[in-house]
Amino acid sequence: MEPSVCVVGACNMDLVAYVPRMPVIGETLHGTKFQMGFGGKGANQAAQAAKLGTATTFIGRVGDDVFGHQFLDNFKKVGIRTDHVGVVSGVSTGVAPINVDQHGANSIVIVNGANDHLTENGPSLPPSGNQTDCALVLVVQLEVPLAPTLAALRLARAHGVVTIVNPAPAREGLPAELLALADIVSPNEPETHMLTGCPVDSEAALRQATETLMRQGPPCVVLTLGARGAALAVGSRFEQVPVGRTPAKVVDTTGAGDSFVGSFATLLAHHLLASATPGEQPRATLLRLLSSPHEGWTRLLACIRGANVCASMSVEREGTQCSYPTRDQLPAGLF
Ligand code: ATP
Repeated sequence: MEPSVCVVGACNMDLVAYVPRMPVIGETLHGTKFQMGFGGKGANQAAQAAKLGTATTFIGRVGDDVFGHQFLDNFKKVGIRTDHVGVVSGVSTGVAPINVDQHGANSIVIVNGANDHLTENGPSLPPSGNQTDCALVLVVQLEVPLAPTLAALRLARAHGVVTIVNPAPAREGLPAELLALADIVSPNEPETHMLTGCPVDSEAALRQATETLMRQGPPCVVLTLGARGAALAVGSRFEQVPVGRTPAKVVDTTGAGDSFVGSFATLLAHHLLASATPGEQPRATLLRLLSSPHEGWTRLLACIRGANVCASMSVEREGTQCSYPTRDQLPAGLF
């Protein structure tokens, strides 16, 4: 088997207009620059995984329009398997028109379009019963409907695939099953606060928040902490992991969280494969690692350090997917 990652999620075309100030209702304003970019948390995470050279499958939906076909072409260019990207006629591809003013403040509208047409029957991976289609790690977020997201998590659990739930964007009223089916939950600070109600302003508070999350099901929590890096929690063990490198210049942090999640999933797939015993399913390998105080902790910390490096490199360049590093751009020794 090769390290493989499957991502279920959304495709949104970012349509960014740079404006001198935010328009008021009824006003027509001239912008200074326009840029388009491939986005959507799921698509971004899959792009980061594929850019690191890992076999990556994306499960999602685009519309039968110009943006949908551009998304498919881009997936192929980046090296993402598109067999499970459905093209839905009669609806638009997901779009995100964004206004950015001269101070960098933004206002964003998201039109889900085809993303909302991913149904419970959509995620036929992982796995399809065919060994070559099996993923080692499944990643989901909260930008497509919950029914297919939960269906994918159930399939993964039934087939011993490791699940990572990135509960983004933050929202309330999630079903308990979501975290119960997560092997690893990876929220940022506002998401952690929303999911737990705990403050996230000190190490003690973060520790308490991870304990609250673990009581809801996942045996492992990976928190992202912006410029402060990330944190790992398993059982009563907790460690903050600083970024470890200073970006030459912080140019654009958009999509840094997706770079982190995509690269963490990739590195985890590599470590699972390196540690697996013959015939062992990926989830069994993870659970064994989580109960091993030395090997498991060391391997998970290595995944977080590597993901910190990738995400911190992504903030040095403008844009989202185009700012993500490829494997040959990384410092030696991460894989
Ligand atoms: P976004 O919404 O911008 O994609 P997020 O809120 O989901 O990001 P963060 O916790 O802000 O996620 O950041 C994710 C990771 O990106 C961090 O764990 C860190 O590795 C890296 N990162 C973010 N900001 C910086 C920064 N200013 N300098 C270095 N690394 C950063």
